[in-house]
Amino acid sequence: MVLGFMRWALALCLVLSGSAGAQALGASATFPVIALTPDSSALIDIGPHIAYLQDEGRQLKIDQAMADDQPWMPVARTSPNFGFTNHAYWFRFALDNLTGKATTRYIELPRPFLDDVRLFHFVGGRIVTRYALGDEQPFGQRAVQHQNFVMPLNLEPGRNEIVLRIASTGTVEAPLRLWQPTAFYEAASHEHLMAGAVFGMLLVMIVYNLFVYVSTRDINYLYYISFVASYLVFWSTLTGYAFAHVWPEAIRWNSMAVPFSIGAACLSASLFADNFLKLHRFSLPAHRAMQTMALISIGLMLGAFVLPYVWVIRATSAFILIVSVAALSIGYWRWWLGARFARFYCLSWTAVFVGVSVLTASKFGWLPANFWVDNASQIGILSLVVLLSFTLADRINTDRSLRINAQAVALAHAKKARATQQAMLQATAEANRELENRVQARTNELHAAMDQLRLANDKLQRLSMTDSLTQVGNRAYFDHSLVTEHKRASRLKQPLALLLLDIDHFKAINDTYGHAAGDACLRALADYMRQKVQRAGDLLARYGGEEFVVLLINSTLGDALDLADEFRADIASLEIAFESRTLRITASIGVASAIPDMHFTPSQFVGDADRALYEAKDGGRNCVRAAAPRLAGRSSILAA
Ligand code: GH3
Ligand code: MG
Ligand code: MG
Repeated sequence: MVLGFMRWALALCLVLSGSAGAQALGASATFPVIALTPDSSALIDIGPHIAYLQDEGRQLKIDQAMADDQPWMPVARTSPNFGFTNHAYWFRFALDNLTGKATTRYIELPRPFLDDVRLFHFVGGRIVTRYALGDEQPFGQRAVQHQNFVMPLNLEPGRNEIVLRIASTGTVEAPLRLWQPTAFYEAASHEHLMAGAVFGMLLVMIVYNLFVYVSTRDINYLYYISFVASYLVFWSTLTGYAFAHVWPEAIRWNSMAVPFSIGAACLSASLFADNFLKLHRFSLPAHRAMQTMALISIGLMLGAFVLPYVWVIRATSAFILIVSVAALSIGYWRWWLGARFARFYCLSWTAVFVGVSVLTASKFGWLPANFWVDNASQIGILSLVVLLSFTLADRINTDRSLRINAQAVALAHAKKARATQQAMLQATAEANRELENRVQARTNELHAAMDQLRLANDKLQRLSMTDSLTQVGNRAYFDHSLVTEHKRASRLKQPLALLLLDIDHFKAINDTYGHAAGDACLRALADYMRQKVQRAGDLLARYGGEEFVVLLINSTLGDALDLADEFRADIASLEIAFESRTLRITASIGVASAIPDMHFTPSQFVGDADRALYEAKDGGRNCVRAAAPRLAGRSSILAA
């Protein structure tokens, strides 16, 4: 496709620079002559050995063109090229057959796209051979069935004059070649091999990518396939192979196939660029530009069928250049701004541009001609086809690795979240354990504190019930116990006895020996009494001052009196050591006994004992008196 434009542009340059300024040839004798000897090369490029005549309006007949007054011009370059033109061009040269016998040579015009090609072979001023060729003639009518125009000439010994007329709505070129027939067929078979290789390669790319499309459903593959197919049609039409082997009868279609396939290539290239480079997400103006190009391409494709060939071929040739430049520059822009997947894409289009540039440079003579230079644009296009296929594979790869990376990141996040959750659960469990431990510790402390409190309480209770000096129960203890025992005895109907004991003349001891001596006496008396009152249920208490009380359960008055007298006697014989002295005391005891009932209160009971004690005091002290058994709320004192 680019080739078409390239040729057009090249032709324009040549028209502007080369051919125009040359001097016209004079008489017929000065026309270029090619000498054929037995040693002549099998292939001769006729280009530099030719004169041309511009036929404005395409009106000249052969005899008019041959007239002496026509302004024939020499061709300065290897290949006469007049670009897009409405004129017909005549070419003329002479062949001097110096081999001494008639010999056959082929004239090849390797531009299968010329509309009208006529050849006149003169010997001695008489036409001996005449050809009328062109792509408007059915292929089957050609003298040599070859994709290029090939005209066999039977050259008589001596001077042979050849005149050609070329007219075309496309570009007019005449890179004529003179072949020895065997060499021609050898070269042709080589050329067919190369063409077959190119054709096969393009076909393989189409079929392969079609399979890839079927499995990936990526629309870019369809655009790519359509691009390659367009190029295949363009290339096989332009080289004449399609006309020779595919549609030898389809003359009209053959002339439309080139602009149509260029339009299709423009359409596929712009859609591919737009979609592959994701322009709608990248730049709206670029996206719109590519879509507009796609629409124009469709217009050109349709135009190939209805518009004059001369217009549509120029428009498509110019437009493919615009599309190519846009596709390349937007690709580089995209790559420049970070789209790594655009790199192969840029490389592909760059290959085409390099190929076309190399070919252009060689046409201007800046590069020596060789196989690679001559086929540079072809190689460029094939590189484009192959590299674009890589491009698609590369993008699928890039997309896949992006997806895999995203999945890996998501997985890592999920893992992290799980780990965090696990850690939180662990922390919660640990906190719970810690809390339980603390609660347990606090509970233990509380229990310990409660135990201590209980002990302290017990101790306090004991202390509050104990007389600190004598370590026997105190008055409160007695009062409390008396009520309890009173109730029990009342319930069990058991006798309860009470002894109230008071030290005689205790004041005198205090006064005589001091208060400490009095205390010592109180302690000694208590110690003695504690030994004596051991029976379970009986109790001893300090009732106040130097008075003690003993409660005897289930004890009759007689038993109580016996015990009281034993106390009295023992006390009287107590020897109380105080400092260096021995102190002696006596005590008076009042005894009361009764089986308590609801009419006989604890205080009445104590009152009875107290009265008995007074009796004892009155009776001279150091003695025991009993209160009379209570009957109907009265008491009496019995003598000891
Ligand atoms: P009586 O024979 O009539 O009982 O005469 P008494 O002196 O024993 O009785 P009084 O009531 O006159 O005196 C009791 C004394 O007991 C008076 C008081 O100072 C003394 N006393 C009371 N409690 C204590 C005490 O805890 N320690 C000492 N050392 N003396 C006490
Ligand atoms: Mg007293
Ligand atoms: Mg006393």
